[in-house]
Amino acid sequence: MDFQLSADQKKLQARARELARGSFEARAAEIDRTEQYPWTNVEELKNAGFMGMTIPKEYGGQGRTFLDATIVIEQMAQVCGVTGRIAVESNMGAISTVMRYGTEAQRKMAASFVLDGDKPAICITEPGAGSAATEMTTRADKRGDTYVLNGKKHWITGAGASRLHLIFARVFDEQGEELGIGGFLAVRDVTKGLRIGNREPTMGLRGIPEAEVIMEDMEVAADALVMPPRGLRKGFADLMDAYNSQRVGAGTMALGIAEGAYEHALQYVQTREQFGRPIYEFQGLQWMLADMAIQIDCAQLMLYRAAANAGAGFPDATEAAKAKVVAADMAIKVSNDALQLFGAAGYSRRLPLERMVRDARMFSIGGGTAQILRTVVASRILDKKLPQTRDGYLELAQQARRAKKDAAE
Ligand SMILES: Cc1cc2nc3c(=O)[nH]c(=O)nc-3n(C[C@H](O)[C@H](O)[C@H](O)COP(=O)(O)OP(=O)(O)OC[C@H]3O[C@@H](n4cnc5c(N)ncnc54)[C@H](O)[C@@H]3O)c2cc1C
Repeated sequence: MDFQLSADQKKLQARARELARGSFEARAAEIDRTEQYPWTNVEELKNAGFMGMTIPKEYGGQGRTFLDATIVIEQMAQVCGVTGRIAVESNMGAISTVMRYGTEAQRKMAASFVLDGDKPAICITEPGAGSAATEMTTRADKRGDTYVLNGKKHWITGAGASRLHLIFARVFDEQGEELGIGGFLAVRDVTKGLRIGNREPTMGLRGIPEAEVIMEDMEVAADALVMPPRGLRKGFADLMDAYNSQRVGAGTMALGIAEGAYEHALQYVQTREQFGRPIYEFQGLQWMLADMAIQIDCAQLMLYRAAANAGAGFPDATEAAKAKVVAADMAIKVSNDALQLFGAAGYSRRLPLERMVRDARMFSIGGGTAQILRTVVASRILDKKLPQTRDGYLELAQQARRAKKDAAE
């Protein structure tokens, strides 16, 4: 496989780097300190054409690939995790789901929000349904030409800043029969019954709110339902398929943060002197740097592969899961080692290292934990469904026992 960037991608990367190393790097500490959503950065991202890049041209976007978006996200995250996150969610995740599965009207609507600077919110997780997302209790009841949604989501990135929301819910027909899981579009300040609840005080990525999204008799027209291609029964699987692009984006953010921290450390070890010599002369530190470089390379290759192989579709679930697991674990280790190389200075809030360590911590949790993603990989390599509920596991065991008995008879 050839991972050389094209001339156009190199130009794109240079443009993204220039913007990131200019105003975004300068503002990153302030965004972290004030915990304010960086609207100025949003405006600059939008003006540079870095929001909605993956939206097809016929809807006003540039029809760029996931790899193009990945290259841009990486540059942003090297200096400002929050801006990287906005770049992810305005090019991947909810927006790609709608652009792929949505009706013409839904695509037009979603594209116009994103191209106007909105980072859509994807609302899946609930207080009682985290890793076990299919146990969500938010429900959408069909009432004539409308659906009425009730339920509560939490840890929704951008809640309160985002306008467009894609809300996952169990769908029921007018007789109360459950049809499966679907995604509903709603707009903050327009859709009645959509309310933003409490904000979480987070460890890192503090400039982007993580908050509750509450649906109280939230009524939407029936055409607000984004119908998964195989229908509602397979709705969750299809919608999560679309979510794999977001996983590549989240992994890329982790990559960018690690690269940023590594870059600072590489410079520092060549200027800081102890025992009468620059500290890079100590072999223990040389090997730390070498390990950091190796791990960064490994994550970058896996992420670029997952993004490049997506082509015009979504990234492969296993490639996306593998890449995110590697990138998330790597970013925790590399950012922490980079801080270590600064000694006490790394522990100070005057330098960006401690922020980078805090920002890097989230990627093995959000968007599928490191454990759940390993289960996704295990399921693929074993070529088996791996139910996590006791009932599901027992049923599988009974099936296997029956098959063995049948074979013996
Ligand atoms: C910063 C951040 C941003 C987020 N943004 C969003 C968002 O925009 N939209 C959204 O919908 N959600 C979002 N989330 C929520 C995120 O997707 C969930 O936190 C995640 O799915 C895990 O759910 P949980 O926190 O309830 O952990 P739990 O599911 O309660 O898991 C607790 C622990 O048990 C482990 N575990 C659980 N089940 C298994 C199993 N079967 N096998 C092995 N280990 C298991 C987990 O890996 C974890 O270590 C975000 C989270 C964070 C931290």
